[in-house]
Amino acid sequence: MSANITAKALNIPSFIVMDVLERARALEKEGKDIIHLEVGEPDFNTPSCIIQAGCRALREGRTHYTHSQGLLELREAVCGDYRERYGVSFDPDQVIVTSGTSPALLMLFAAMLDKDDEIIMTNPYYPCYANMVKFLGGVPRLVPVTPDENFHLTPEKIKPFLSRKTKAILVNSPANPTGMCMDPSVMKEIAEIGVPVISDEIYHGIRYEGNDHTFLEFAPDAFVVNGFSKRYAMTGWRLGYLVAPRKWIRPLQKMQQNFFISAADFVQWAGVTALREARPDVERMVETYRERRDYLFTALKNLGFDIYAPPQGAFYFFADCRKFSEDAYAFAFDVLEHALVGITPGIDFGPMGEGYVRFSYANSLENIKEAMARIRRYLTT
Ligand code: PMP
Repeated sequence: MSANITAKALNIPSFIVMDVLERARALEKEGKDIIHLEVGEPDFNTPSCIIQAGCRALREGRTHYTHSQGLLELREAVCGDYRERYGVSFDPDQVIVTSGTSPALLMLFAAMLDKDDEIIMTNPYYPCYANMVKFLGGVPRLVPVTPDENFHLTPEKIKPFLSRKTKAILVNSPANPTGMCMDPSVMKEIAEIGVPVISDEIYHGIRYEGNDHTFLEFAPDAFVVNGFSKRYAMTGWRLGYLVAPRKWIRPLQKMQQNFFISAADFVQWAGVTALREARPDVERMVETYRERRDYLFTALKNLGFDIYAPPQGAFYFFADCRKFSEDAYAFAFDVLEHALVGITPGIDFGPMGEGYVRFSYANSLENIKEAMARIRRYLTT
């Protein structure tokens, strides 16, 4: 007898952005020159001090399993980074190093959710949040946030969604796909609701106005997930971590042992160098993103996209395209076919994304300018 594929495996949604990317790759195979503004990964190479540290670690034989929680040196560097940047302290024993932020999120959700338990999150949201929660039998409770309020999440908006089944409030600041950043006063109020908070801080460090704040400043018992993919341009290295209250660590560590054993040894050593030495590289990358953001803000408005305010962090614009089409999904694929520019349909990020498209400015200013020229031609012919 052959095994059946479960409904949850069959039905887990694809990442629409990957569908755009795959179509773009097919067009490239036909010889078309595509400008990619769909993908959410830094266009920069990983800073050279990190690459050198990774190579050195390989040469030194750092090719083994590590402690399932991760190298103590890396966990200490994570504690040092949070102490220095935000003035919060936690113990290296409260950190579990993972192969990216994604496994950290999956393990946390799995540790928290029984069937029908709920996680509160914004709508629009990073797609994997809802997909993972549903896969695990949980329910994403979606709190609409709107552009006229800069996509801000507030305690007033959250409260009607609280129920006996609420297990956590998930926040992401700077946010994908909107670039929204939370004010510290609002973070404090959300912490005071008294429901556990999961704070995805993966875009920390990519900030144009104001300063990042960790939720640990306001709720020492918050769960934090973070990673090296965005800040250090290390998407392909697969390195992240979670910080959790002590009583959660042993169960999470056992999940890590069973599911993943440990994150890669030499990659963790590269992570130590990233945290200790790569700050000047990060600052350079952020200045470059800022230049692109400023250009795109004007360019997109001039083209007729509705944008209320420039994003304060991350590297995305979430732009209202209803002036051009009621169907943003069809619009994004049409722009790809005819303007040869990849953009992501907003519906990838939940029902509130209908009528929107996401532009990523993790691409060179030169390419972004060319992309805008192409979209202008497409819209005017
Ligand atoms: N959270 C958010 C908000 C993201 O945008 C991403 C990547 N696109 C991730 C988590 C996962 O990142 P990684 O697994 O590469 O650390």
